Amino acid sequence: MKSDPSRGTDSLIVINCGSSSLKFAVFSVADETVLVKGLAERLGSPDAVLKVERNGETSCIPIPSASHHDALQAAIASMTGLNPRGIGHRVVHGGEEFTGSVVIDENVTAAVDRCCSLAPLHNPANLIGMTTARELFPDLPQVAVFDTAFHQTLPPKAFLYAIPYDYYEKLKVRRYGFHGTSHHYVSTEAAGLLGKPVASLITMHLGNGCSACAIKDGRSVDSTMGFTPGEGLVMGTRSGDVDPALHQFLQDQTGMRLSEITAMLNSRSGLLGLSGLSNDMRTLSEAARKGHERARLAIEVFCYRLAKSVCGLTAALDTLDALVFTGGIGENSAEVRALTTARLKILGVDLDAANNASHGRTSGGRISSSDSHIPCLVIPTNEELMIARETLRLIS
Ligand code: ADP
Repeated sequence: MKSDPSRGTDSLIVINCGSSSLKFAVFSVADETVLVKGLAERLGSPDAVLKVERNGETSCIPIPSASHHDALQAAIASMTGLNPRGIGHRVVHGGEEFTGSVVIDENVTAAVDRCCSLAPLHNPANLIGMTTARELFPDLPQVAVFDTAFHQTLPPKAFLYAIPYDYYEKLKVRRYGFHGTSHHYVSTEAAGLLGKPVASLITMHLGNGCSACAIKDGRSVDSTMGFTPGEGLVMGTRSGDVDPALHQFLQDQTGMRLSEITAMLNSRSGLLGLSGLSNDMRTLSEAARKGHERARLAIEVFCYRLAKSVCGLTAALDTLDALVFTGGIGENSAEVRALTTARLKILGVDLDAANNASHGRTSGGRISSSDSHIPCLVIPTNEELMIARETLRLIS
């Protein structure tokens, strides 16, 4: 890729488009630093606003009733002196159509559109991001990076549900796995830290959404998330796994409609539902310390279910080079890491209390003791940087 210094710093724009929001970051090609980042929220409403951070300064620009197009146009004003070489888009669902990142063309947008039925809340917004960027930067190459693509290496035994096979063949009902960009990023970083070209790992992305992934020689072979990001672990407001008969029972007993039960499992369950207090791990830890019993219980269920899933994921692996914690909770909660690994003694996992307390920041990411059979690492995730790297790789 040729660069022209007179046009400004070579950079890559990363866009994450939601239904009423647009998040962007601009990375330097030379050293991967973030040159500008911003978030436009409440798009389409009178109080729409664009927040931009550049050179340590934050500006807040009202953009009343702005569309995604208006917001991106306003964001471009913050990119003076930069020479964007390409645009990377986060796309939530690539179904079975995409096994990796791709340069966007008409066939790609049509395939992303076909995946909308699998992610009706996210893919349409991601498509708006692509169309808007194409309108405003018609000459720049654009790349789609999918949350699901990293998990397309799952074997059938891991991705099939034990329901009539027709539902897979006709409707593509299967386990997809999500958070792929994060699991891919931290697994690559972990392999580097371990001094291996590729590694076999269990990575735990613990944010508002939570998933764990079994990675064999650098490839995803199982994930706790399934057909939707609702399966698997306990999350901030999502239940994770429940009995398949629960919907019928709740409908019969309470008269709730199916859509109401789904909404309850997505937005009123998890840490929030169990504690009755908050979906935020910081709030729960603080409350539990002060004696809030249900906050303590919510954390206990969260960590127990996580440890149980980690043990389940070992079935997908022949060796295990390390356990990796990431995401807001994984990177910052020494308590969650300690409670979870306390239930993994059977795997020979043992933490170093001081390194865990400092989140591995003074020990090169390692939080396990020298006696631990399996190293434990804390690796901050960086999905935007991964999208920028994928964009550069594909346009170079
Ligand atoms: P998202 O999935 O929305 O990107 P994050 O990865 O930022 O979310 O994770 C949010 C979660 O991380 C929240 O539950 C928050 O309480 C938790 N978190 C952030 N900082 C801390 C901390 N210092 N201690 C415990 N939990 C934390």
